[in-house]
Amino acid sequence: MTVHSFTLPDRPGPFAIPTDNLIGDAWQSNGMGRIDVIDPSSGSVLTSVADAGVEEALAAVDAAEAAAKSWAATAPRKRAEILVACFHAIMAEQEWLAHLISRESGKALSDARGEVAYAAEFFRWYAEEAVRINGELNMSPSGANRIMVQYQPIGIALLITPWNFPAAMATRKIAPALAAGCTCILKPAEETPLTAQAVLEIIRQAGVPAGVVNLINTSDPGPVCRAILHDPRVRKLSFTGSTEVGRILLREAADQVIKTSMELGGNAPFLVFDDADLDEAIEGALLAKMRNGGEACTAANRFYVHRRLHNAFVAKLCERMGAIAVGPGADPATQCGAMINQASIDKIERLVADAVKRGAEVKLGGKTLAQPGYFYPPSVIANVQPGSEILSTEVFGPVAAVIPFEDEDQAIELANATEHGLAAYVYSRSLERALPIAERIDCGMVAINRGLVSDAAAPFGGVKQSGLGREGSHHGLLEYCEAKYIAVSW
Ligand code: NAD
Repeated sequence: MTVHSFTLPDRPGPFAIPTDNLIGDAWQSNGMGRIDVIDPSSGSVLTSVADAGVEEALAAVDAAEAAAKSWAATAPRKRAEILVACFHAIMAEQEWLAHLISRESGKALSDARGEVAYAAEFFRWYAEEAVRINGELNMSPSGANRIMVQYQPIGIALLITPWNFPAAMATRKIAPALAAGCTCILKPAEETPLTAQAVLEIIRQAGVPAGVVNLINTSDPGPVCRAILHDPRVRKLSFTGSTEVGRILLREAADQVIKTSMELGGNAPFLVFDDADLDEAIEGALLAKMRNGGEACTAANRFYVHRRLHNAFVAKLCERMGAIAVGPGADPATQCGAMINQASIDKIERLVADAVKRGAEVKLGGKTLAQPGYFYPPSVIANVQPGSEILSTEVFGPVAAVIPFEDEDQAIELANATEHGLAAYVYSRSLERALPIAERIDCGMVAINRGLVSDAAAPFGGVKQSGLGREGSHHGLLEYCEAKYIAVSW
């Protein structure tokens, strides 16, 4: 059997990263084609990974099936110990993994380091949850019997992840699946397979048994995922990615009535009220906009600022965003790395051009940088007019669109005028004001006077077309469980 691997030239890790598919107990690639992995900071090919088809996908289901019974029967305490070992093993490789993430996704090293810590945290959190999958026992209202409820693992799970957080989006699914007693198949994004390959090798070495987590990469995700979702042994789909692909997968999952978790696109509003602390709002705006170079589903997309603060907000935001160092992610001086690919640059350019055509003013940036790789500078566009596409489509890049508002009702109406409902940000010195506003915004998560919402211990997810279900917290565990009700007379 041919075995392929990759070593970061300037940052060799503790092992060569396997670049084949993990099926059962072995990395394998017999007869498969290869998918090139591109470094977005240069546009050049880093390496390639094995390209699985339907046959390999179904072999991964076989492997997950072979491991399912014994993993479900493994004592929760033992599962917890393996998960905590995974947490420590990932943290021990934080620096190396950060370099790898940075190299294949283009993001700044500081963002990549943060991602590794966030990714590892899901193993620690779900190690603690694995031993607390508590059931319920009630007397039925009639008094005739007891109602006993037990949470059982749902079964084999297909986990599909995007490229923007290649470690954290994988562990946010793998850790609760394993804690619940499920086995799984991970299908990472074509753009960033190496991080997932490295994480899986780390957790395999940390004690995750063969077949419990399998990995396939494919250049043809439609037919390959369809085959998995039409195998009756598969009972769960957890997807993070665009709303467009989410809709396709919901249709695919319908045929076998598979339980789905959908973490889809966002279009977060960032509301600054007239009683906000402007300096704090700017700090929050920088974090909410520029984390991951703006390539985050929670990224602030639309900045609605009270007219009284609007001009000062725009001026300060330009000053701070203009000082951000743009460059290759792996350069320690870089604060904003490369975008993932040319298609991403094309989309940002299209949205900015549309806004300008409709009357917006470019206050900062607004032009792709002429250098190898895919670089767009931190940009601020003000006076964005209603109907501009940038207000309804996530820009997924370092562009802040700023719009003034007059009063609270108008701000909330503007914030809710989208098919998405993932995250929102509110700045006001008064919690008496901010909390009712948070309740009125149609979204799954609101940050008040903060630029960050993500936390392994919190239920992450959206409403409307931003998704179904939650990841993280106890809610994320229940996504991988079925409630079994037993009526007992005793
Ligand atoms: P994408 O939807 O293009 O791809 C996501 C994954 O789906 C990839 O692994 C891809 O190979 C796979 N895929 C594509 N077509 C498929 C098909 N027909 N069948 C099965 N799988 C298929 O998204 P992306 O560009 O990788 O990621 C960016 C998107 O992800 C953004 O919209 C962002 O908001 C969203 N996102 C959401 C969250 C969240 O938690 N809500 C987190 C991160 C990213």
